Amino acid sequence: MPANAVLHVADVHKNFGGLHALSDIDLQVEEGTTHAIIGPNGAGKSTLLNVCIGRIAPSSGAVVFDGEVITGKKPHEINQMGIVRVFQTPEIFPDLTLLQNVMVPAFAKRDGSFTVNAFQSANNQAEIREEAEHWLADVGLDAQRDTIAASLSRGDKRRLELAMGLVQHPRLLLLDEPTAGMSRHDTNSTVDLLKKFKERGMTKVIIEHDMHVVFSLADRVTVLAQGRIIADGKPEEVRGNPVVQEAYLGG
Ligand code: ADP
Ligand code: MG
Repeated sequence: MPANAVLHVADVHKNFGGLHALSDIDLQVEEGTTHAIIGPNGAGKSTLLNVCIGRIAPSSGAVVFDGEVITGKKPHEINQMGIVRVFQTPEIFPDLTLLQNVMVPAFAKRDGSFTVNAFQSANNQAEIREEAEHWLADVGLDAQRDTIAASLSRGDKRRLELAMGLVQHPRLLLLDEPTAGMSRHDTNSTVDLLKKFKERGMTKVIIEHDMHVVFSLADRVTVLAQGRIIADGKPEEVRGNPVVQEAYLGG
């Protein structure tokens, strides 16, 4: 494993009964890169992500994060170590304001718990508030910080989730289809936001269907089909690969 690999998925297999959802998965995510995982429906992308965050135990193999085996750890332990997954996960708190939504994970990062009540009584509220305001501004939601989250548009809810992830200072950010269901306009502004994070050197894994998004963001692309890696390389290498085109068109 190269010295600069943040994440190493080492020879992971996952069976669901007789179904081989993941076979021989070996991949490395290098420091500071945006690594895209693409593939047709049912390819195993979500399963792979869930293995990385400790939600699904692999049938064999291991996941190594910053040189430490994390297989067998609980999802919250892995989260505390710095792997943050956004979208499809800790949903926003619809009845709280945007600012409160971001303060909850900011508090949890410091105190190791993720409850609404605990943070309301915290004595470092002012500091946490300031931090939450910073990340809300970073995703462009500062003007709406006192708005109730339930009233946000779909695109802005995603931004909020992103701020809730960023406030945890992720060592590795995992994004599960960040532009799913978005208009072209919202997709473009999400891409711009993710480009900004990329310029800061943030290490990211992104599962994405939209090829425009993949090719404008990824440094490296891993293609899964039927639980196996069928291609892996730079976007321009993967794009022209006939095996990849076959998997998409034939799948
Ligand atoms: P993708 O995210 O690439 O669409 P998934 O990882 O969700 O693919 O699924 C990969 C395969 O594993 C699919 O055939 C799916 O039906 C199956 N699968 C996923 N989760 C489970 C589960 N909990 N139990 C049984 N089969 C599952
Ligand atoms: Mg999926």
